[in-house]
Amino acid sequence: MLREGTVVKAYGGHYYVSSGEEIHDCALRGRFRREKKQVLVGDRVTFRLQPGGQGVIEEVHPRRTTLVRPPVANVDRALIVFAVKDPDPNTFLLDRFLTQAEHAGVGPAICFNKVDLGEELIRDMIGAYRQAGYPVVCTSALDDSGLDELRALLEGHITVLAGPSGVGKSSLLNALVPGLNLKTGDISRKLGRGRHTTRHVELLRLPGGGLVADTPGFSSLYLPEMKREELGEFYPEIVARRDGCRFTGCLHFQEPDCAVKKAVEEGEIPAFRYENYLRLLQEVMELERRY
Ligand code: GDP
Ligand code: ZN
Repeated sequence: MLREGTVVKAYGGHYYVSSGEEIHDCALRGRFRREKKQVLVGDRVTFRLQPGGQGVIEEVHPRRTTLVRPPVANVDRALIVFAVKDPDPNTFLLDRFLTQAEHAGVGPAICFNKVDLGEELIRDMIGAYRQAGYPVVCTSALDDSGLDELRALLEGHITVLAGPSGVGKSSLLNALVPGLNLKTGDISRKLGRGRHTTRHVELLRLPGGGLVADTPGFSSLYLPEMKREELGEFYPEIVARRDGCRFTGCLHFQEPDCAVKKAVEEGEIPAFRYENYLRLLQEVMELERRY
């Protein structure tokens, strides 16, 4: 009997495939091993169910996206998590994560956690990102506020959480996934755990449907390789206005008659978003020179 499902864990030649309510322990057809075709967590597969509940993967469906860090296929939602404070949000870092998600073809959404410490502290920032067109949710893993809205945002998606250390990613996962008990708290404790156990990424099932990776995604250290003209394509505010620029391929930097610069001057695009864009543009141009 042939069934379809999603690989949620891969370990030691075993592929755990979720289909509906059940998880099946599957092996790979020998042909895949000979072709050196890699099957990733997140892959949609067709498998042959055998008596006893085990299965053999017969076919891997084409991927929509492929994330490298962590290695997961078909991720279609990046939840970028920052905190209201402790640590203070850094919009340059946030915009880096947004750029990485957009570059990977994964639709980003933003979560501002720790609103129990005072959502009003970042009201302007929240407004700016909503205005730009990103879905924004405000949560507290401490008092559960905003969690229903967050659940609705993740329903039916394969999600990876991203964001700096200490913002509450593990705490949010614990709140979203019943029975999960990830360690939370200070960084040194978590590094201690990482050193002794090899971590394999696993997709956790959300009660409302949908999957979420148990390992945070992307890296704030590197920018993906891209051309300088590409960067603006990852900024919804720029995409909405670039047709008004005099030059096609305008970098919205030193060119005359730039509709983006005009929108910044008129306060339609927040100055901090534009400044972050310029900083990233410098980095992209540096990298371009090195390749
Ligand atoms: P991660 O490094 O992003 O996974 O962050 P953790 O989940 O380990 O949380 C870092 C610290 O922030 C821990 O001490 C948590 O108890 C605390 N924390 C997490 N979420 C919240 C929240 O919503 N409000 C408050 N006040 N503290 C939180
Ligand atoms: Zn321009």
